[in-house]
Amino acid sequence: MKIHEYQAKELLAQAGAPVPRGIVVTTPTEAVAAFDKLGGHPVVLKAQIHAGGRGKGRFKESGKEWGGVKYLTRREDVAAVAEVFFKYPLVTKQTGEEGQKVSTVLVQEAADIAREIYVGMVMDRGVGAPVLMACSEGGVEIEEVAARSPELILKAVVDPGLGLQPCQVRRLVYDLGFSADQIPQAETIFQALAKVFMEKDCSLAEINPLVVTPKGEVLVLDAKINFDDNGLFRHPEIEAMRDLTEEDPFEVRAGKANLNFIRLTGNIGCLVNGAGLAMSTMDIIKYHGGEPANFLDVGGGVTPQGAIEAFRIILADPKVKSILVNIFGGIAKCDLIAEALVQAGREVGFKVPVVVRLEGTNVEKAREILSSVRGELPMIQTASGLTEAAQKVVAAAK
Ligand code: GDP
Ligand code: MG
Repeated sequence: MKIHEYQAKELLAQAGAPVPRGIVVTTPTEAVAAFDKLGGHPVVLKAQIHAGGRGKGRFKESGKEWGGVKYLTRREDVAAVAEVFFKYPLVTKQTGEEGQKVSTVLVQEAADIAREIYVGMVMDRGVGAPVLMACSEGGVEIEEVAARSPELILKAVVDPGLGLQPCQVRRLVYDLGFSADQIPQAETIFQALAKVFMEKDCSLAEINPLVVTPKGEVLVLDAKINFDDNGLFRHPEIEAMRDLTEEDPFEVRAGKANLNFIRLTGNIGCLVNGAGLAMSTMDIIKYHGGEPANFLDVGGGVTPQGAIEAFRIILADPKVKSILVNIFGGIAKCDLIAEALVQAGREVGFKVPVVVRLEGTNVEKAREILSSVRGELPMIQTASGLTEAAQKVVAAAK
């Protein structure tokens, strides 16, 4: 699960990290009021979307040369700029072409910047532990720095049992070249980041940039935190921060039906039981020249309602040009899936070909069900093996 920048900063501030003063607004009028409330100092308007690269992004079709992080000094500019923020979708490297609608804006007291530093914590699967990373070349180009000069990224492996040790933090802040008066401030922020990461079951917690002001203050200027969904049940306060309007509506709907669903960019819908079979189904579709529109594992214990909902979700995507149903009946029996397929077909009406490959428990019963509706649901085609199924579904999508 992802949260907004302003929420990530709230968590870091609770853990003791200094963040700039800021006010969250949802209209241009509120943005002007926030500017006044912050004392008429320069502010930065920051679009709150679940995607990074906002500063270098652009508001689609706005004709403006700036993106979702805008520095403003004059009160009279605030309303007009906020107007653009709320009106046009923001396109960044991470949003895709269509961009993301902005419904919340953070009006933040602007900081003067002498240095920008990157600090982040992730789960390193290679090491099998969380790793704290830092880089003295922070800011908007961190991905390029990591690609060009990986040696500039400093790392500390955090023992999950012991947590981040003071000596590890000290090593990092010295190597980053903080001056004596900045060191305690930086240490507090590093510890706060690690505390939030460990206590809240994060999968990623990032401060980019951490800035040093010309006066020597160290501040969290931008923050991004993602959570491991499997740990969410332990954190109702985090779950409460969820902004469903930022998430793919199909994925939200599938989540409610306990389906493991991830939307992809192709045009072949997939309905499969088991994550491994779902992966190999996507592989074989690609092998035969097709592109999957989704990953969907209905799971072993799928109910008839769950299976019907899975079909509804796939069929609701206008990009889907054909569907491959690939079931190896075990706990989820073939006849249950066949029944669900028929019911979904009757309910929604299949406008695209549906290629079905079934094997395993109750496959005979399933075949009978499907052949009994051949006249009624002519879009359903059957295939006897994976290769045949993939070839048929790829041909049907073209
Ligand atoms: P991102 O583009 O989504 O990562 O958004 P950031 O909040 O990181 O902002 C991008 C860049 O805008 C930062 O790296 C800074 O260079 C600049 N920026 C953001 N806030 C301020 C601020 O308060 N003062 C100044 N001078 N620059 C800022
Ligand atoms: Mg940033």
